Amino acid sequence: MIIQPKIRGFICTAAHPAGCYESVKQQIEYVKSQDKFEGPKNVLVIGASTGYGLASRIATTYGSDAKTIGVFFERPATEKRTASAGWYNTAAFEQIAHADGFYAKSINGDAFSDEIKQQTIDLIKNDLGKVDLVVYSLASPRRTDPRSGETFSSVLKPTEGVYTNKTVDPMSGEVKEISINPAEGDEVARTVKVMGGEDWEMWMDALESAGVLTETAKTVAYTYIGPELTHPIYKNGSIGKAKDHLQETAIRLNSRMQTKGGSAFLSVNKALVTQASSAIPVVPLYMALLFKVMKEKGIHEGCIEQMTRLFKDKVYAGEIEFDGESRVRVDDWEMREDVQQEVADLWSQVNSDNIESISDIQAYRDDFHKLFGFSFDAVDYDADVDQIVSIPSISE
Ligand code: NAD
Repeated sequence: MIIQPKIRGFICTAAHPAGCYESVKQQIEYVKSQDKFEGPKNVLVIGASTGYGLASRIATTYGSDAKTIGVFFERPATEKRTASAGWYNTAAFEQIAHADGFYAKSINGDAFSDEIKQQTIDLIKNDLGKVDLVVYSLASPRRTDPRSGETFSSVLKPTEGVYTNKTVDPMSGEVKEISINPAEGDEVARTVKVMGGEDWEMWMDALESAGVLTETAKTVAYTYIGPELTHPIYKNGSIGKAKDHLQETAIRLNSRMQTKGGSAFLSVNKALVTQASSAIPVVPLYMALLFKVMKEKGIHEGCIEQMTRLFKDKVYAGEIEFDGESRVRVDDWEMREDVQQEVADLWSQVNSDNIESISDIQAYRDDFHKLFGFSFDAVDYDADVDQIVSIPSISE
């Protein structure tokens, strides 16, 4: 099959196996180029196939020689259709990790369900005994509550009235104004059901009662804050309310886990192009400007640099350094005053005519393509490739 990108809005429905392999290989090479650290040894990553979860898996495997179990929801290829990027990423990760002598197994299915939790527990019991780090990195537009069977969908809306700001169509570069109506009825409550902490707590309850957590196990989930200009759609929006619930959950889990020497906390990560973040209005334009400023200052990072810094320098470098709300901050460079001031200045100027020069919209496009294995120099996109690729630990 000759595989080309098929982009519709903020979704790409094709993925390239050789490009995803290249992406994973580059992330592994980055971690190998860094010093190793005394980190976790047995890691469970929930949401392990793309974005921050995949980077967490790679950073702990190659940074601290961890054995990993990854849980995700991805689509294998068919005769007519490519697999999803996360499928190919995981196939590549397992192939390389196994060749390098690392234990890495994966579970593909709905992490919100009781069945997948049980399968994961069985695998931990069988292969690892216990885990000492649980990374919760799910991003999903919907969740079926295993107790009630009801399916909830999330929304990306403001909560305090209509929000009007600039936004960009990243592919065309058209900058225009967008007005987003506030969430109505139970939309916020439904978003909290999907992206809040309920499922994280269910995972931790299940792992704890099955006896598969070490006494000093840590668990981390990811959140975002961002600048004031995106607060109405992010921090104070429906997704922000879900993240508030995630934070309340972290505090509750922590008070229980710390009695034995463990901990639960959030890490505030940088805004980066992932499948989840590209769906948020306004944020892609902010990222295009942010990347320009951070690159000029030599402080730009991708998911793998962020997750390596998180685990190597912040979580496993002695006493964990928390902010005033018990969160770890790897958005520290994004939120620097000089960075934010320059982004705000560019924000007021940016329009369809100057976006290519005053922002890094081209890098945004490249990053978006790379999520699906496109735009890698090392890959021949005219070559016929076999789209059917299996994940070594999964036989389907
Ligand atoms: P992503 O879309 O790249 O990854 C989502 C992961 O969740 C994938 O592995 C996917 O397979 C998995 N998943 C989705 N639904 C699932 C289900 N039902 N069962 C099992 N697995 C499922 O997203 P991301 O941007 O890496 O987001 C991860 C976390 O990081 C989220 O909490 C997000 O809010 C947070 N975060 C993201 C950014 C950003 O800019 N991207 C910034 C800060 C924090």
